[in-house]
Amino acid sequence: MREAQVDFAALKIDALLVSAPANVRYLSGFTGSNGMLLVERGGERVFFTDPRYTLQSRSEVAGRIRVVPRGPLLAAAAAWIARRKLRRVGFEAGHLSCSSYVFLDENCGGARLLRTAGIVEQQRMVKDPDEIGKIRASVATCSAAFRRVQGWIRAGRTESEIAAELDYRMRREGAEGPAFETIVASRERTALPHARPTSRTVGHNELVLIDVGSFQDGYASDMTRMLHLGRVPQPVRKLYDAVLEAQLAAIGAVREGVPAENVDRAARNVLKRHGLDRQFTHSTGHGLGLEIHEPPRIGRKDKTRLRAGMTITIEPGVYIENLGGVRIEDTVLVTSTGCEVLTPTPKELVTL
Ligand code: ZN
Ligand code: ZN
Repeated sequence: MREAQVDFAALKIDALLVSAPANVRYLSGFTGSNGMLLVERGGERVFFTDPRYTLQSRSEVAGRIRVVPRGPLLAAAAAWIARRKLRRVGFEAGHLSCSSYVFLDENCGGARLLRTAGIVEQQRMVKDPDEIGKIRASVATCSAAFRRVQGWIRAGRTESEIAAELDYRMRREGAEGPAFETIVASRERTALPHARPTSRTVGHNELVLIDVGSFQDGYASDMTRMLHLGRVPQPVRKLYDAVLEAQLAAIGAVREGVPAENVDRAARNVLKRHGLDRQFTHSTGHGLGLEIHEPPRIGRKDKTRLRAGMTITIEPGVYIENLGGVRIEDTVLVTSTGCEVLTPTPKELVTL
């Protein structure tokens, strides 16, 4: 169980209803799929779940647990709010459906509902040592799976087969599963930043982009590497070197106190020098933890100052229609003096 860092006075609320699964897990420790947490100003907390999770919640959640025998958890939460005569209740606007909101509004005994955003997410940005340990383990699993699969890739395998092998290996290495749909893209499909693996067969003299991550003990890892089957042609080599230079520059810019946008700019400036900045169509990275994408965003205009203990990705990419794309991504830990690159996988362009 974690103390929720909620400034009830500033928000002018008596309680916060936490419904986003990752936030519920973060504060309560509950790893199941159906749980809700109400945190009151005075310190009272109540966790709601359904009878499938009676035993599990008892072993995972400290404090008051309400197992709701039937109906939505929200009905029990609304009844609780009414019974406790809470007057102003914050809810997570990004994580409560419109119909849930209406239901809550009609059943909470006249309490005023106030929208909040990112309260628990802010708290989650800086990881504690236990979380960092889990992210390290997740990163190690992902890299171990990649190492095993890398030597097995050859012309004639399909993108889907390669993705399936990675997913299988991650699980064998200790992951609960992939942290997102594993991306394997070959040839000109590498120019699609979020390509889905297809039945396309990878051929000789082709570029392959692999973006893979695992969830282990609830925590995400994220890595992108490039492979080339056969001798690397000069334009691909140049592209690769430019992206690698940008990635290293961004890593070099990471340090506690630095605004996230500065890290993004470091990558963008390098690509600009190579005339490739317009083909860099996404942000440089993102936070990761209980979710694969969480704050901060390492992008333009993100002024969040990095803090020691944040875990983020650094992943510049360049995408050129009909030629292909290159992205290189590591998971890194922000420290007071710079950062630690957690991903152990080498960054040379792998040739098979
Ligand atoms: Zn990725
Ligand atoms: Zn990523």
